[in-house]
Amino acid sequence: MDLLRSRADLPRLEPYRHRDEPLVLVPTMGALHAGHLELVRRASRLGTVVVSIFVNPTQFGPAEDLDAYPRDLERDLGLLGAMPVAAVFAPSAADMYPRGEGVMIEPGPRARTLCGTVRPGHFRGVLTVVAKLLHLVRPRIAVFGRKDAQQCLVIDEMVRDLAWPVRLVDLPTVREPDGLALSSRNAYLSDAERVRARCLSEALVAARRELDAGQRSCRELQAGLLRRLAPADAVDYAQVRSVPELAAPAAATGRVLLAVAAHVGRTRLIDNLVLQVDDDGVREAPLLSEVEERP
Ligand code: AMP
Repeated sequence: MDLLRSRADLPRLEPYRHRDEPLVLVPTMGALHAGHLELVRRASRLGTVVVSIFVNPTQFGPAEDLDAYPRDLERDLGLLGAMPVAAVFAPSAADMYPRGEGVMIEPGPRARTLCGTVRPGHFRGVLTVVAKLLHLVRPRIAVFGRKDAQQCLVIDEMVRDLAWPVRLVDLPTVREPDGLALSSRNAYLSDAERVRARCLSEALVAARRELDAGQRSCRELQAGLLRRLAPADAVDYAQVRSVPELAAPAAATGRVLLAVAAHVGRTRLIDNLVLQVDDDGVREAPLLSEVEERP
């Protein structure tokens, strides 16, 4: 596994471009957990994997956890060393933002709701760093976790509107046995908070059951989500939205996103389910394209 510590090291990726399989980028902020490793494993079935590790300062708000965000490059490299990864790109902030913020990418309409409302400037930072990573690494495929569903859709909107030659793939959320979505931020939770944090995935599973039983009213589904988020200390949103537009429909039909964001103690958690709701039933679905993996 090749470690690239700066832009100047990127020419070392050139030999990988001449293989008969695509270069696949998996962007992360490090503090790797089993969810990241599953993305890497699935990405390796699509092509030659490059993982980026960069805690992107521009996507954190002034009152957010940039300084507290867990960082342990040695541990992350140890975990990735045991995986099918060709290279890790782990640049410094000065390398990614040599002139400070400079030119930033303005997100499209999909960013103007949900987390985009609660975290002003967040998706501007995300898109800017993803744009830089895509241009520096030049992968044919970039892989993202469905756990950050709005992020996937906002990046997809950028790539389509700006006609960039990269295919985006979203992969399912990896969960703890009790349903809690894996997140680097789960490390902030105390034991008692960890128990309360279950309410996010439990609320989503209950809403899915209501859909299975025929409920289609977004108002009713959202009221149920909110009720079940009562163990959290504050709820940012509990919404049913259309995919990919993230509009607020009256009825949950077609491809829908059930999305929740809530605070447990000082930790902000998000979770979601992406469902295809048809007359003959409800099934989990991707946000973007279905993946064709190599056998
Ligand atoms: P992060 O390091 O949190 O920026 O996440 C890097 C990538 O891993 C993003 O595409 C996330 O959506 C994805 N990811 C984070 N948590 C999970 C999870 N529990 N399951 C699957 N993918 C995840």
